[in-house]
Amino acid sequence: MAWKNIVGSPFDPDSFDAYCHSLSWTSWRPSFLVLHNTGVPSLEQRPHGFNKVHLQNLVAFYRDQKGWSAGPHLFIDDRQIWAFTPLTVSGVHSPSWNKLSVGIEMLGDYDKDDFSSGRGLAVRQNTVAAMATLSAVLGLDPSTIKLHREDKATTHACPGVKVRKIELINEVQQLMAVRHTGEHLA
Ligand SMILES: [Zn+2]
Repeated sequence: MAWKNIVGSPFDPDSFDAYCHSLSWTSWRPSFLVLHNTGVPSLEQRPHGFNKVHLQNLVAFYRDQKGWSAGPHLFIDDRQIWAFTPLTVSGVHSPSWNKLSVGIEMLGDYDKDDFSSGRGLAVRQNTVAAMATLSAVLGLDPSTIKLHREDKATTHACPGVKVRKIELINEVQQLMAVRHTGEHLA
């Protein structure tokens, strides 16, 4: 299967917001966001988050080992938001929802890693910022956010149990009210 290539660049929440505003979804347009965690690697296994070598290793995993055409769209660590599969084309991350959704991977194993303090909290805050931006730019209702494990076609318990969807939806809605008021009301 032809590999779709990756963006491979890191953004902070502000530059990610500007980046998303520069994109146009002309050939493919997602209808909702799907949240994942990497499990492996855990936070401990990536003490400084991701780097460009890690991203190339992920390319080798999805393209060469799995034989997929793409991977998830974003990898988010405690420092940055890494653009992987371009947000303007469909990715591969959740069997039922690849053609419909943006796939967002958080660094960590949130069955074990703390999701409300320290590095886990930083991952969470970057993820909420990215989801608020994507919801605003794409005109998506945050209440439609899904967890990978809600896909009946998946065998993965992903993300970990410490990721509670209702809390994240609330956090995205709050950030949108503060930061994205009046944007993209169409
Ligand atoms: Zn997943």
